[in-house]
Amino acid sequence: MVNDAYPGLSGKTAIVTGGAKGIGAACVQFLAEQGANVACLDLDKEAGNSLAATIGPNVMSYGLDVSKSSLVHETVKKVAEDLGSPTLLVNNAGISHYGTVTETTDQQWDRILDVNLKSYFLCAREVIPYMLSAGKGAIVNVASVQSFMSQQRVAAYCASKAGIIGLSRAIAVDHAPTIRCNAICPGTVDTPMLADAIADVSDKEAILQECRDMYLMKRIAEPLEVAQLVAYLLSNLSSFITGQAIRIDGGIGLEIGASV
Ligand code: NAD
Repeated sequence: MVNDAYPGLSGKTAIVTGGAKGIGAACVQFLAEQGANVACLDLDKEAGNSLAATIGPNVMSYGLDVSKSSLVHETVKKVAEDLGSPTLLVNNAGISHYGTVTETTDQQWDRILDVNLKSYFLCAREVIPYMLSAGKGAIVNVASVQSFMSQQRVAAYCASKAGIIGLSRAIAVDHAPTIRCNAICPGTVDTPMLADAIADVSDKEAILQECRDMYLMKRIAEPLEVAQLVAYLLSNLSSFITGQAIRIDGGIGLEIGASV
């Protein structure tokens, strides 16, 4: 049954990049529950296919590397044919990398920037014309608290996430009032990316506890909590919000003396 809690989503076509797992998968599922037709764009086509199969016919899966310009062009065109003109976009695909500037190779830098930032530009560039033709559109770009603060040894990741804030603001300025564009900045979220990040750690529970303790909420986020913010920012409920970088971070770093 379609939920109308987030007006303006039902019957619309939404594209979610990196939609097969983690935050993206939660967005695909939640937007579909609000009645949107959702295109899940992901490198992992198999995971995207099984997600689509569990949700229903209003979700379609497309396998591609969203950092490749020609593939993004072809796929967005195919989405418009299959599901209708896209007027909602969630740029979410992302990868992490650990290294200081001196530990980061040209190839690693380029790959992080290509996936985490260039793909957001490429997808926006393909989808915006459909939004302009429709006279309405909304974009959410998934950044990170690391757009504003940095752990040690995540130089390229931090640079890519800070870039997303600038890109989001530029899109908001250039395409207002037809299109709204906002960035969201999650703290730690319980996803496969987090599991990969601690895969080689022997005492995973100790690391996770240390992580939870950094947040005022004393826990990390669930993907659904992020998906609900995404749905809000895509819906008519946020009709006067654009160009913002909205933190969904459990209050990390607010406490005086916090060691983050
Ligand atoms: P995840 O690794 O769990 O899922 C990411 C998805 O993106 C995967 O399905 C993967 O196959 C897909 N993907 C990766 N590269 C791709 C490419 N080139 N083309 C198409 N698909 C690609 O990650 P997540 O934790 O759900 O993160 C989603 C977004 O949220 C990322 O941008 C990440 O930087 C950001 N984020 C995550 C956290 C966190 O703690 N998990 C915190 C802040 C921000």
